[in-house]
Amino acid sequence: MKFRVAEIFGPTIQGEGRNVGMPCYFVRFGGCDFRCSWCDTPHAVLPDQVRLLPQMDELEIHDKLQSLQGEAEWVVLTGGNPALFSLSNLIDLLHENNYKVMMETQGSIYKEWFGKIDDLCISPKPPSAGNTTNLTTLRDILRVTSRESKREPTKLDFSYPVPYLKVPIFTSDDLEYAEEVVMMLNDYEIFLSIGNEDPSLPTVGNPNPDMAPRLLLTRDSILDKFKDVVDGVLADHPVLQQCRIFPQQHVLLWGNERGH
Ligand code: SF4
Repeated sequence: MKFRVAEIFGPTIQGEGRNVGMPCYFVRFGGCDFRCSWCDTPHAVLPDQVRLLPQMDELEIHDKLQSLQGEAEWVVLTGGNPALFSLSNLIDLLHENNYKVMMETQGSIYKEWFGKIDDLCISPKPPSAGNTTNLTTLRDILRVTSRESKREPTKLDFSYPVPYLKVPIFTSDDLEYAEEVVMMLNDYEIFLSIGNEDPSLPTVGNPNPDMAPRLLLTRDSILDKFKDVVDGVLADHPVLQQCRIFPQQHVLLWGNERGH
């Protein structure tokens, strides 16, 4: 099967979530059912860019990973929304070749092969994105993909870790949404990820910014936002004090440069 592939790169580190700091490779698929205004991968989302991406099958993706330097054991499947595609055979091929598989998706679509993923991050999109993840759909996806669901009749293999949640935070409305997530899904590990508001960042809402990237300004903007969110959670959102709060480490290290 062929997939539109925006990038395959690494080794780098996972900049967010439960596996933060872990060396890994990334495979970014083109195509998404959402259009988050601040999305930092417009090349994997906007249809006029996605249709220009090369198409690769499972073996070509594996061979490209093998050609990269390094000995990282994790491969991150991301997008776009990788849940749009049939990735079961690719995951099998990666496992056969001793890779472990992480994946990030926004919780809009469920696929049976989620059960094969070694580390599944579901990142519901808050109001600032312009399209929010429906929390009832998300809860249903989590129920069927989590270890707890083993008690329910299912054909899936649940011998993998429970998925976790990562909510991007840009605005005070996003903090309110995160509270809803925590109150509805408090059995799950939940992270708050600081939104990247650097005006030099190409986004779905502004794919061609007229500012050149400057690493020090990017870092300042991320750290300022990090402090605002932490202060807000500590002062006004006790419900969120059971979440871990973090900035995107890859952005602190490399700014908005692609390929990290
Ligand atoms: S942030 Fe994720 S869900 Fe939103 S448009 Fe970008 S790839 Fe799609």
